[in-house]
Amino acid sequence: MEANFMYCTFKGRKSVCPILLSKEQALEGIRRLARQIAADYARAAIHLVIALKGAKTTAGYLAKELDELGMTFQVDGVRVKSYAGTESTGKLNWLQELAEPDLAGKHVLVVEDIIDSGYTLSELLKVLKFRYGKPASIRTVALLDKPSRRRPELKGFKADYTGFEIQDVFVVGFGLDWDEEGRELPNIVYINPEDFINPSTN
Ligand code: 5GP
Ligand code: MG
Repeated sequence: MEANFMYCTFKGRKSVCPILLSKEQALEGIRRLARQIAADYARAAIHLVIALKGAKTTAGYLAKELDELGMTFQVDGVRVKSYAGTESTGKLNWLQELAEPDLAGKHVLVVEDIIDSGYTLSELLKVLKFRYGKPASIRTVALLDKPSRRRPELKGFKADYTGFEIQDVFVVGFGLDWDEEGRELPNIVYINPEDFINPSTN
């Protein structure tokens, strides 16, 4: 496989990480998503709900693109967590509610960084449909998707707008973290956690 690499440091240990998507590729994907979204929503105002913290980078660039396409939107966020380390816990913890908890009549577009088992986004959607009033519509956008990882009961579950389908690898960078490290990496890299935990594999 052809791959570019960059140095990255996790858990105090430095290693080389293969780049899955460069920042330029990620931005090109976001531009494509913004064009699709702008075409679908016509002139309707959108209420972006960012799944924090991971989707902050994606949402920031998406908002910029939507703005350039003449879209009107508001931005809010919820913070939910389902991952511990590199594994899904199968439970959704609500760490932060919407700042303006009124979605009644709004065209809600949930922005997620990545879909893995599908649990986080599907649970988030269930809650957003009623907790803050009844939205006029609710759709989802995910920069990355790992369809091969879907829970059996969520097979076929997808975001309405998907940036890139990727293999079953653990990715960091472009806002995505591993235990709060690596969010600032410009490119999306994938890591083998053992490279950073077990020195014998370095
Ligand atoms: P799911 O609930 O679909 O299994 O997982 C979705 C959430 O888990 C994402 O919002 C993200 O926070 C985290 N996640 C899933 N896969 C990855 C990954 O490869 N890298 C990182 N950094 N987070 C991931
Ligand atoms: Mg997330």
